[in-house]
Amino acid sequence: FSAEMNTLVLPPPAARVAVALGDRSYDILIGPDLIATAGARIAQLAPGASVFIVTDAHVGALWLAPLEASLEQAGIRHDRLILPAGESTKTFAHFQQLCEAALEARMERGDLLVALGGGVIGDLTGFAAASLRRGMNFVQIPTTVLSQVDSSVGGKTGVNTAQGKNLVGAFHQPALVLADTGSLATLPPREFAAGYAEMVKYGLIDRPDFFDWLEKHWPAVFGRGPELEHAIAVSCEAKAAVVARDETEQGDRALLNLGHTFGHALEKIVGYDSSRLVHGEGVAVGVACAFRFSAREGFCPPEAAERVEAHLRAVGLPTRIPEVLPTGVDAKEILDAMAQDKKVKRGALTFILARDIGQSFIAKNVDVEKVRSFLEDELR
Ligand code: NAD
Ligand code: MG
Repeated sequence: FSAEMNTLVLPPPAARVAVALGDRSYDILIGPDLIATAGARIAQLAPGASVFIVTDAHVGALWLAPLEASLEQAGIRHDRLILPAGESTKTFAHFQQLCEAALEARMERGDLLVALGGGVIGDLTGFAAASLRRGMNFVQIPTTVLSQVDSSVGGKTGVNTAQGKNLVGAFHQPALVLADTGSLATLPPREFAAGYAEMVKYGLIDRPDFFDWLEKHWPAVFGRGPELEHAIAVSCEAKAAVVARDETEQGDRALLNLGHTFGHALEKIVGYDSSRLVHGEGVAVGVACAFRFSAREGFCPPEAAERVEAHLRAVGLPTRIPEVLPTGVDAKEILDAMAQDKKVKRGALTFILARDIGQSFIAKNVDVEKVRSFLEDELR
């Protein structure tokens, strides 16, 4: 009876995106007040289950209290762990801490982990959910633009190691995602813009109309109007469609790496120091480079590359390598950083290139020498 009652009182979310993965399918709900109704929605999803919340210190200070209040209102037993904020939390040490804390809190196989935070908390909590009691359900409550449009969609979870980022993990889909756009009110502007770069990326991969729309409506998106919900919903749909075709990255899912081969190299060179470069800024420079390189190699009209760059600049994102790297870095250093990336095979690089806006493709045999001469010109 109480589940029925919940159905009656729960308002519909502003948007809903279904991620179609057979028996691992789930919904992404998008709207301005989803933390406030999380308790009722979780009670519907898993009647009688207890909840273990994982968050970081920044997000916890802002959004833990309303989440706990909503769980209490729904009569859900809950416990929690607050971890330090930042990429350095995505480690084995915190994975162990999380698993032991959840067990200590008597979480059983049918209970739920809830990730309240950005991609760091989502990836770490998802990996713990994949492992704890050989697989528990988890709910994502992503609180950054990046995690709402990217990391909470598609089920990649994991931790970083001394050898590199995301090298240990699992595919483990959440049971539900609550993307509360109201939570983005407290997100620092730089993080907001960085997440926006990933939205632009979806337009550039295969949604040209969405890119047109963003060119017109970005001020309202940045103003956190209802347009923001629309932009997040389209982005989730775009990623979900690619993931549904290729859940474990045997082929098409690689398209989502548009801009990331260049971007990761830049992040690596600055030592993943987010005060110098956040991931989305690397992606912004990376997609601009991917389009300029595509134009230079004759795949795509130069006007398309100019349009991409103009839009990224309009919203305040960087588009040129010298803007984000310390002076003195040369093409060789960037190529070496790329060569350590998993996308390199014997003298040839796999790149995501473009024939036009919204027409990206996987280029498997890109000659390293062509990339070198492109980078030399970029650095001039
Ligand atoms: P993050 O989780 O570190 O969050 C960025 C910063 O914003 C942190 O300091 C955080 O405390 C703060 N923050 C988060 N929400 C806030 C809010 N609402 N108000 C105020 N501050 C807030 O970083 P991110 O950019 O969300 O995620 C990056 C991580 O995501 C990386 O580890 C990356 O590897 C991973 N990722 C995973 C996937 C995937 O498919 N699983 C995809 C892309 C990225
Ligand atoms: Mg990314």
